[in-house]
Amino acid sequence: MLDLQPGEPVVLEHRRDHAYVKVGRGCGLILADGTRCGLSKNAVEHHGFPPSINLFGSGANRWAYQDIKQRWMDRFEELLNASGLERGHGRVLVEGEWTFPRRPAKGGRFGPDQGNYRGPTEKPFGDALERGGWIAGDYWLAYQFGEATYRYEKDVAMLRLVVFPMPAETFE
Ligand SMILES: [Zn+2]
Repeated sequence: MLDLQPGEPVVLEHRRDHAYVKVGRGCGLILADGTRCGLSKNAVEHHGFPPSINLFGSGANRWAYQDIKQRWMDRFEELLNASGLERGHGRVLVEGEWTFPRRPAKGGRFGPDQGNYRGPTEKPFGDALERGGWIAGDYWLAYQFGEATYRYEKDVAMLRLVVFPMPAETFE
């Protein structure tokens, strides 16, 4: 059955644990318990949000793209499960807020390009919504990504997503 009344929105938050430390194989950061992090550079623990599409250049690095997309799909599904969002919505609207850990470089007063970040988050999030049964499919009428907001906070890399359950829409 379709959910005809909008439900309560849920807020999901992913925060970078620490920046990747390039020493030897895997992250070289020494953790509080004295062990080495050891995780891959692509691990979600090393990122506040999926990396810019610029990372993949002109489609040259397909393996890296699939690896990163899969990791974020899993992470988003984990966050959705923890949020308690009901499954089986006819449609959801999602809004996002990206927090960047550094100000744009000197002279680069314009900062990051929204489209470069939006797509790499929008796609795996839609796939997670579909895979977990929150929506029937990540097609346009069931899944819309709305506002994408930029935020800066020193040394914090973080993504907040708000999921608004909406009444189902159908083609005329
Ligand atoms: Zn690490």
